[in-house]
Amino acid sequence: MSRINGFVGRRNFLKLAGVGSVGIGAAAAGNILWNEEEAVAQKPASTTGKPPSVDPQTALKRLIEGNQRFVDGKRLNPNQSRLRLQETSFAQYPFAAILGCSDSRVPAEIVFDQGLGDLFVVRIAGNVASQEAIGSLEFGTAVLGAQLIVVLGHAKCGAVTAAIKDEPLPGRIGAFVEEIKPAVEVARSKSGNIEDNAIISNVQYQAQRLAESSAILRKLTREGKLKIVAGRYDLAVGKITLV
Ligand SMILES: [Zn+2]
Repeated sequence: MSRINGFVGRRNFLKLAGVGSVGIGAAAAGNILWNEEEAVAQKPASTTGKPPSVDPQTALKRLIEGNQRFVDGKRLNPNQSRLRLQETSFAQYPFAAILGCSDSRVPAEIVFDQGLGDLFVVRIAGNVASQEAIGSLEFGTAVLGAQLIVVLGHAKCGAVTAAIKDEPLPGRIGAFVEEIKPAVEVARSKSGNIEDNAIISNVQYQAQRLAESSAILRKLTREGKLKIVAGRYDLAVGKITLV
């Protein structure tokens, strides 16, 4: 796949996505994100081009090692220099994507010890695979090239607790809580602490939704260019455990 200035061309993306040009193509016409000619024109001569892609296993290893550094209090704070700032201003090649909760205690770049341009992060309360989240992750993988998606939940998640309580909620808070309820039903059928079980069943459920409801993500997975995993973050220790 050719990638120009961090983005695949519109034609290539549509081919990869396996969708026709009516719809997305018409909507994208004139959009700089999909226009190869304009992207080339903006590419500075000093950039070295696309780095080697990071396969799913290597990406996962990189994240696990980064999280271990965070847990051990030995963060390297990589890719946060002024040079990295300059480099990433021209293009981005994130090696992994995260679907995480908006909770202020779980910032992806910090808990995985990564820097600018490393992670394509979608954060939404309850880390739910909403239509917008799925679309964002399709972009982060099919267009930007990330080969790993981590659905990251965490202990004491207020969104999951609200889904368990199942009480009326003001405004639009109920919208994302609704998307967690099928996972809560699975958790209710298990023995043990309902909240702990629901955190795990929710990340597994949202990961399954990503894998099953998106033709683009399914295709990438089938081709070995994408792996989707689920994880739970321990608020007190900082450790992420795959579940
Ligand atoms: Zn949460």
